[in-house]
Amino acid sequence: MQDPTTALTTRVNALANQIFERVANLRIEHANNVSLFTRLTAHLGVIALVLIALLLSGIQIQAQQQPRNYDDPVAEQENLPEINLDPNANPQNDMRPGVVIFTSNPKKERRDVTKYAVKAGDNVSVIAARFGVTPDSVIWANGPLEDNPDALTIGQELVIPPVSGVLHLVQKGETVQSIATRFKADGTAIFNDPFNQTIHDFKSSPPVLAVNAYIMVPGGSKPIVVKKVQYSATTPQNAIKGTSNFQWPTAACISQLYWARHPGIDLANSKGTAVVATDAGYVEFVGWDNSGYGNMILVNHGNGAISRYAHLAAFAVEAGASVKKGQLIGRIGSTGRSTGPHLHFELIVNGIHRNPVGILKGNTPRRCYR
Ligand SMILES: [Zn+2]
Repeated sequence: MQDPTTALTTRVNALANQIFERVANLRIEHANNVSLFTRLTAHLGVIALVLIALLLSGIQIQAQQQPRNYDDPVAEQENLPEINLDPNANPQNDMRPGVVIFTSNPKKERRDVTKYAVKAGDNVSVIAARFGVTPDSVIWANGPLEDNPDALTIGQELVIPPVSGVLHLVQKGETVQSIATRFKADGTAIFNDPFNQTIHDFKSSPPVLAVNAYIMVPGGSKPIVVKKVQYSATTPQNAIKGTSNFQWPTAACISQLYWARHPGIDLANSKGTAVVATDAGYVEFVGWDNSGYGNMILVNHGNGAISRYAHLAAFAVEAGASVKKGQLIGRIGSTGRSTGPHLHFELIVNGIHRNPVGILKGNTPRRCYR
C-alpha cells in the first residue's frame, strides 16, 4: 500500500505526462495541417521584414555620420591667406550644425522663475523657444541683455520668466495697477498669475506687494528703442561702390534670425569657414570690438549700405582695402561674446538695421537649432 501523498503525486505526474503528450500531438497535427508553402512564405516574410529593418537603420546611421558638405563660395580662389586656427580651442565650441542635438526638457507647464546656465551654441531665441516664452521676455528679465542680446557667454546665468511678458522686480510704492500700466498689461492677469500668488499677498485689501521680489506681468512689454548706428570712419571719395545686390556672406545655417533686439542674423558653421564680402565695398574697419562683436569687419558699400561681420576667427583683409563682391574677408570664429562658432552678420542701410533675410540674393540657408 502506498501512502496517500505518494499516491497523489504519482497520479498528478501521470496526468501531467498525459497532458504533455496530448499537447505535443496537437502541435504535430497542427504542423502537418499547415502546408509547407504557407510556412515557407511566413518565414520568408519575417526574413524580409528583418532585412528591411536592417536596411533602414543602416541608412539612418549613414545619414547621421555623413559629414555635411557646404559649398565653399571661395574654394576656387587662389592665394588664400593662411589662417591660424587656435589648436587649443575649446572642443565645446565645435558646434557644427547637425551634430548638436538639444536634449531640452519637454515643455511642461512651468510656474516658477527658472535659472538657466548658458550652454555652447545658445542664443536668446533658442533659449526662449526651449522654455516656451518669447525672446523679448528673456531679454527683459535679464537687465544687461536689453542693450545687447548677443552678449551671452557660456555659463552665464539667465533668469527665465514663467510665461511670456515682463518679469519685474517690485519697487517701493508700486501697485499692481501701476505695474500693469507701466508695462501695458492687464492687472487681472497679474492677480491671476499662479507665480505671483505664491509671492505677493493679493488676499489683503488693498493687496500687498513684496518689495524687491519678482512679479510676473503676463503679456507685458517694454518699448523698443531703435538705435541709429553712428560712424566716424571716413571713406575716400573714389572708394569702390557696391552693386546693391547682396550675396550670402558664408555657407552656413541660420542659428538666429533677425528680430527686434537682434539686429542681424547668426550664421553657424565650423570655425574657419570662409566669410566673404556680401557686396563690393571699402573695408572701413578690421579689428577687435569691445562691445561683444570680437574680431569684426565693417564694409562700406558706398551706397548707404554697410555690412558687419562679427566673431571672426581670422581676418583676410586690412582696413582701407577695396573688396569685390564674394571676396574672402575672414573666417568664422567665436571671438567676443559668443557661445560657439558663428558669423553675426548685419546689414545697415542709411543707418538703420535691416533684416538680411529677404535682401540677400540666393537660397536662404536652413534654420538650425530650432
Ligand atoms: Zn548675432
